[in-house]
Parts: sequence; structure tokens; C-alpha cells
Amino acid sequence: MADRIFGHIPGILEGAVFESRRDLSTAGVHRPLQAGISGTGKEGADSIVLSGAYEDDQDSGALIIYTGHGGRDPKTGQQVSDQLLFGGNLALATSCLDGLSVRVIRKVGDPWRPARRVGYRYDGLYRVESYWRDIGKSGFTIWRFRLTKLIDPSTTDKHLYETQESYLPPARQAITTLRIIRDTQQARQIKQLYDYRCQVCTVRLEGSAGPYAEAAHIRPLGAPHNGPDTIDNLLCLCPNHHVLFDFGGFAIDHDLTLVGLPGKLICKPEHPLNADHLLYHRLHYYKGL
Ligand SMILES: [Zn+2]
Repeated sequence: MADRIFGHIPGILEGAVFESRRDLSTAGVHRPLQAGISGTGKEGADSIVLSGAYEDDQDSGALIIYTGHGGRDPKTGQQVSDQLLFGGNLALATSCLDGLSVRVIRKVGDPWRPARRVGYRYDGLYRVESYWRDIGKSGFTIWRFRLTKLIDPSTTDKHLYETQESYLPPARQAITTLRIIRDTQQARQIKQLYDYRCQVCTVRLEGSAGPYAEAAHIRPLGAPHNGPDTIDNLLCLCPNHHVLFDFGGFAIDHDLTLVGLPGKLICKPEHPLNADHLLYHRLHYYKGL
């Protein structure tokens, strides 16, 4: 089998529509004929197809909350068991950790022949920003992935852009994108409170221009988590512990005992943490559950 290609397939423009899964596969845009996720846990995921089959998917154009695969009855399509962080789901998580771009393909009506039922449109490259577990509408565990569209310099060429736009069917919805600015006053406040020391390991990093620490949100900002940017939802962490926290390597119990790491979180009396946010992080992110 040919090497897996991450990024655009040479010669295939964003907005290109393919009649069938076989055509998509032959073009190399999405190789598997049935699976929605192309990739392996070791290599990462190079493409996904949004088919609208999952009841828990949310698609607003530039932001996609994608549901992983597995646990569905092949006959009815109903979720009948828990999904695991395995196979295509693990592939998407690897793309998140390694910063690999994912080609997104949407199932659409054929703009050329409205009588035809479906086509598959290549909608460009996305980044997997985060992944977490959730309970789906069916009551079973699902894995979810937040994907945001990458701005591709090659598609900002005016002529190309206009041509491409005229090909797009009206299915694409208007979207509102919120830019989340992380270093707010609250973030600076929390770092100063701890004098830039990590609340897990007490390390204080100092560069030529001064100390460096990161303000980590316990319940993430942005859809669908919508955690607040408030002191009770913030931690002062070193970069290592920030990454480990965001990717589920450890969590924090309600009494501030670390879960997955030895010891206890250092916490000042003037820094009350919200127990609901800590619980949210344990349930949705911690690897050990
Ligand atoms: Zn640390």
C-alpha cells in the first residue's frame, strides 16, 4: 500500500466533489471504502468522512465536534456499546498529539445533478485540537474530537477562491468563530499568585526576559465544554504538566490529591478550585477511567 499522505493530495483542490467512495479512494483523498476514519494509532489519521450518521456529531463548518467510531450495531446504526480509544479513534488522537493535519470530506448533494443523491466533497485540512470521552445521547461512552479548519495560504488566491466558491452547494452554514485569547487578566493573576511555580512540581522556569508558566483551564474554554475563564477554573502549571493535564495523563481529585501522579496539588487558600470543573476533567479526560 502506498505511503499515507498527510495534507492536500497533489492535484486535488479543496471543493472537489467525488461521486462515490470508490472515486474518493482512487484519488487518494480518503482510502478506506467504508470506514469514516483513515489512519492508524501509530501513524495518525490522514482523513475523515463526515457522513452525518452519528447522532452526536456537530458540524458548523470551520469547527467540527466529531464522534469516533465503534460500538454501533452494523444493521441499525444504533450505538449499542462503549467506544474505545483504539483504531481510528486512536489515530485521530495521535494526529492531535503530533499536530498532523486531517483531510475532511463531507457527504453532500451533488451540485451538478440535483437528482443525484450524494457526492463527497473535499473540504480541506483541519487540525485536531483536543479529544475527550463523553456520554453520547444513547448513554454509551463515545470519544469526541474537536477539529478546526486550517487556513491554507494556497486557497487565499483570489481567482482560485472565487472559482471554488462557485462550486460549493449551499449546504455550508454560516459560522461564528470565537477566538479564544488565553492570556487574560485572570491567567496573569494566577501565575503571579504562584510566582510562576508549577502547582504540581514547583518548578519555576526563567528565561532571559523573565519567568514563564502557563495558565491551564481545568474545564476547557470553547465549544462544547464552555468552561469559564475564572480563577476557580485555572491552574498555574509548567509546560510539561500543562500538556499532561490537557491530554489526560493525570487528574485532580476533589481533595486535591493527584490522580495518575504521586502527591497533592499545591493550592493557596486564596485560590479556591471549583469541584465541578475538577470532576468534569476527571470524567472526560483522565486516561485511567
Ligand atoms: Zn510541573
